[in-house]
Amino acid sequence: MKDKNKRLGVALLGLGKYATDQLAPALQETTGCYLAGIVTGSPHKATAWKEKYDLPPQNIYSYDNFDNIRSNPDIDIVYVVTPNALHADFVIRAAKAGKHVICEKPMAVSVEEADRMIDACMGAGVSLSVGYRLHFEPYNRQMMKLAATHKYGYVQKIVAKDGVSDMDGWRLNKQLAGGGALMDLGIYCLQAANYISNKQPIAVTAEQPPATNPAKFHEVEESVYFRLEYPGGFTAECHCSYTKEMNYLRADANNGWFELEPAFGYAGIKGKTSFGKMNFDAVNQQALEMDSIAAAINKDRASPVPGEMGREDVQVLMAIYEALESGKRVLLDPVIRGSATVETGAE
Ligand code: NAD
Repeated sequence: MKDKNKRLGVALLGLGKYATDQLAPALQETTGCYLAGIVTGSPHKATAWKEKYDLPPQNIYSYDNFDNIRSNPDIDIVYVVTPNALHADFVIRAAKAGKHVICEKPMAVSVEEADRMIDACMGAGVSLSVGYRLHFEPYNRQMMKLAATHKYGYVQKIVAKDGVSDMDGWRLNKQLAGGGALMDLGIYCLQAANYISNKQPIAVTAEQPPATNPAKFHEVEESVYFRLEYPGGFTAECHCSYTKEMNYLRADANNGWFELEPAFGYAGIKGKTSFGKMNFDAVNQQALEMDSIAAAINKDRASPVPGEMGREDVQVLMAIYEALESGKRVLLDPVIRGSATVETGAE
């Protein structure tokens, strides 16, 4: 019989900055799952991680022998943390090996890829989640709650901005990243507008200001302004950039407002409302994310951040690119959202 309290073994695949600095340390704090293995293309990383985290040699895989993970009972979940365009292949290989999967954002670089990932996981009977850590972060959860309970009336407008002052590496490579600031940072704005409204947009418009550094941003976009229109008439005005520091989320309702600044970081999020400050204890978002996903797997529940949510977002991102190219308003099919149960120790 299945042990519903089993601590699930996670293998991190792609040992770059996010896996090294955030996910592996978070897995030292999780209670429902733990760092059981790694998948890496770099032998020197394998040696360093094996020592640092005391990993058994049989739980260390290269990209070439990764499919053998199928016969390893220590690994329950593979967490894919590679450049965006590589997510699909690794997620599909993990699913074919019979492992549950968490995939970093953005889930894929096309809707067709996202569909293949969902189909592979469904076909293999494994769960697919997206690393949307802010669903487990108390200030962002408070934004969702204030909107859902209509504490300050009905939300009429959302403003979301996410930007960094500089960018380099694979994120400037269209083949690997799928796009620029929109894929990497605009997705936070889209996600925030969606989780505040608990809806998906029905239309998008977008504008791309001229690049301030065209030599650097010749493959991917440097910044994008986009507007999301939601059923019920409210809108989200969003801005993402690779050359401007921004980190802001605000909701205006008919009897008040609530906002976060910074809104999307790993720590240090601050919030206030038209009636005062928000105040929540610091949490490890990634630990809560992975524990919540592990709990859903153990209890045979839907993921709190399912692949379908990642796919909906990729669809909107693609519609924003279409709007940028055509200069026209692009319509999207309305999505009826189920309410997945989110379990988090954050409240
Ligand atoms: P990174 O460049 O630091 O790491 C990428 C890893 O992928 C490296 O270990 C690299 O060796 C490996 N890799 C495998 N094949 C590669 C190839 N062909 N080219 C380049 N690298 C290759 O990147 P990162 O910042 O760790 O981002 C990885 C993923 O995590 C991205 O999808 C990113 O969007 C996501 N991410 C999410 C968050 C979050 O808050 N949820 C934060 C940062 C990154």
